[in-house]
Amino acid sequence: MTTITLENISKRYDSGFEAVKNLSLRLESGTFTVLLGPSGCGKTTTLRMIAGLEAISDGNLFFDEERMNDTPPKDRDIGMVFQNYALYPHLTVFENIAFPLRLRREAKASLEERVRAAAEAVELTALLDRKPKQLSGGQRQRVALARAIVRKPRVFLFDEPLSNLDAQLRMQMRSEITRVQRMVGATAVYVTHDQSEAMTMADKIVVLNGGELQQAGTPHEIYTNPKNRFVAGFVGSPAINFFEGEIRDGAGGHVTFHERGSSVAFPLPKQAFMHSSSNTPRKATLAIRPEHLALMALSEETSVYALSGIIRRVEFLGHERLVYVETSPEAPHKIVRCTDTTQAFDVGAPAQLFAAPDYCYLFGSNGERL
Ligand code: ATP
Repeated sequence: MTTITLENISKRYDSGFEAVKNLSLRLESGTFTVLLGPSGCGKTTTLRMIAGLEAISDGNLFFDEERMNDTPPKDRDIGMVFQNYALYPHLTVFENIAFPLRLRREAKASLEERVRAAAEAVELTALLDRKPKQLSGGQRQRVALARAIVRKPRVFLFDEPLSNLDAQLRMQMRSEITRVQRMVGATAVYVTHDQSEAMTMADKIVVLNGGELQQAGTPHEIYTNPKNRFVAGFVGSPAINFFEGEIRDGAGGHVTFHERGSSVAFPLPKQAFMHSSSNTPRKATLAIRPEHLALMALSEETSVYALSGIIRRVEFLGHERLVYVETSPEAPHKIVRCTDTTQAFDVGAPAQLFAAPDYCYLFGSNGERL
């Protein structure tokens, strides 16, 4: 069991480009951490620094108390699984799994035993004599997984291992990977840009953007308590709705949010009082998830605390519908997730949007949470 600590780690490539900036993280022993972020945010670079495949420009990397910056990859006791599996086509499944043990000149009897145990863990026992080209994509990925666990490494590193698989297999392999990781007990770091993978697999999600840490927390914390506008917008599908406008202190001490180009207002959570000096409107972004918006036909009783708009599109997904509402010609359509499939929504019809203040997030013009 190994705790991985990144202490103010930065990576500058020879070109001078800084791909990772002053990253500090503590990944507890035996946990599963997912590095999540858009393409180019520095996920793979971070993973490769942990593996020792990329030199660390600044800062320190520890496995438990041991500083690893200068330890060669082969001495870090790491099992890695990549997107492209990297199997040897001329070797059988057995020999592919056995490869790391052969490099270590493991004795024949224990090699045989360990390969069979690893194959059994990922349900490959019946396929040990096949060559990789005789396997499906999911089976190949399992061979790569078995090869990574056969040495019982202290650290598991995964770089988008499921991106070549179809949607159904991806879901199956997610639980397979976390099951095997728990069984082995190795500390895992997993790179993906797929938020549903991150949400379903991680003990801790680390959100990166532009080489910088945005937020680290459990999937629940990241989803329900986003620290900044980037995290709120990146995590959640369909994406959170942003309303650009300003906070105003209204009559009767109400704090409201006014979207630009529309005259109606949303009530705000009480803490918004703290940030709104009276009579001075303050520019901000309001964010509300599609499941926290309610939609009503305009003919019903109107409320001053509703945003009116026009239904522009309805998507039927079986268990729910996504309704796209135009609240202002200048703003992107707002998405409302409706689980009541009996309610009628007609494209072109006027409608009102409501939100519960407790589920509204406010961000200042610097993107930080207010
Ligand atoms: P993706 O999901 O697309 O793989 P990522 O988050 O893993 O993205 P990295 O591969 O870590 O991103 O790259 C981070 C940034 O560093 C990118 O802007 C990339 O162009 C840059 N980069 C990566 N390798 C090098 C290199 N050898 N020299 C210079 N810049 C590099």
